[in-house]
Amino acid sequence: MPMSDSFKSRLFPVVKNIAAYYGTPFHIYDESGIRATGKRLKQAFAGIDGFREYFAVKALPNRRIMQLMKEMDFGFDCSSIPELILSRQLGASREEIMFTSNNTSHEEFLFAERDGGCILNLDDISLIDKVPNFPELICFRYNPGPRRTGNVIIGNPVEAKYGVTHEQVVEAYRRARDRGAKRFGLHTMVASNELDYTYIVETARMVLEVADLVEKELGIRFEFVNIGGGFGIPYKPEQQPLDLQSMARDITELFAAFKTRHGYAPRMYMESGRFMTGPHGALVTTAINAKDTYRKYIGLDACMSSLMRPALYGSYHHIDVIGKENLPKTEVYDVVGSLCENNDKFAIQRELPPIADGDTVVIHDSGAHGHAMGFQYNGRLRPKELLLREDGTVELIRRAETVEDYFATYQFSPDLFRPGQN
Ligand SMILES: *Cc1c(COP(=O)(O)O)cnc(C)c1O
Repeated sequence: MPMSDSFKSRLFPVVKNIAAYYGTPFHIYDESGIRATGKRLKQAFAGIDGFREYFAVKALPNRRIMQLMKEMDFGFDCSSIPELILSRQLGASREEIMFTSNNTSHEEFLFAERDGGCILNLDDISLIDKVPNFPELICFRYNPGPRRTGNVIIGNPVEAKYGVTHEQVVEAYRRARDRGAKRFGLHTMVASNELDYTYIVETARMVLEVADLVEKELGIRFEFVNIGGGFGIPYKPEQQPLDLQSMARDITELFAAFKTRHGYAPRMYMESGRFMTGPHGALVTTAINAKDTYRKYIGLDACMSSLMRPALYGSYHHIDVIGKENLPKTEVYDVVGSLCENNDKFAIQRELPPIADGDTVVIHDSGAHGHAMGFQYNGRLRPKELLLREDGTVELIRRAETVEDYFATYQFSPDLFRPGQN
């Protein structure tokens, strides 16, 4: 079931008011929903000592949302300099930031160690010698290759650019130790939008087995293992949600068994993005044009610059038309934006009630990898972001981009260079 009933029951009765006040389009996020999911995650894994969620910043890099995460005592998973800056602005300390970059530049390494540093998660064995000042605490991203078959979005691990191979993993930690590392973590990320909880249990089993292997070879004790993100949410009405309770029960057992064998167990970290915020966001738009040609089209005042998942992955996002939720779905529409790209469609051949100009159209589950993936192609700018707060008030948490923002990169000092002549 996309978008929680609770969010829907609080948003839909007032959404036209909000639209009238702020203007469409906008993404709106649900504070109660995000907090409830955070609480559920913590409770589910309460049986594992030192469990911590590092919110994957790229899913929803909005300061106000990140502040909610901070209040829940979550850390942040970052993979770029701006994401590190955001996390530090919120007061995240070194061990509250995982820096999981790939194809990392020298500049990024320098930035990572600034301002108290972070947990460096290295993506390749070749990077060990490129870390300017090797930290005491180090982590590697492990890629199981043919040992796991991937899931749909992230693909087959053999074809994934990420991580060190099974054959390299012991050597990676040996070399890190030679460079002075004394504290160790292990990370993997092999799923995306996975709804089968057993796949994630197997991921936890896998990282614990690798921790076991490295410990046997090198005598290293792991402080933590990080099972990554990729917890799925049901975008389609007929999909079942991820069985968090069963997943947590099985993973907790794996950690308990590890503890029995070793006399200690590493802490468990995860870095969910989508699961934390995906269902707690919606893109609210207005229908502005109905077109009847070879197909019937409904044109919205938003386009794929606000939400590109349907165009990029062919993803399904559920759609409701306010005031028409219970009408029979007698029409078949392509619901489109105004970008000069034929894949600028939020829905293709979707059964919906008849839509008229001026109708408020709500696109579900835009809370993760929605606004964040936005872009400016074709001069289409990103919309504003709002927060529906627990007390029912609505707060602007990012303004819409303006034409001035679009032209901002033309503000520079003249700079002319004649190659070969200096
Ligand atoms: C994208 C990403 C995540 C979050 O993925 P979700 O599907 O949003 O949970 C976590 N960790 C890493 C390293 C990522 O690249």
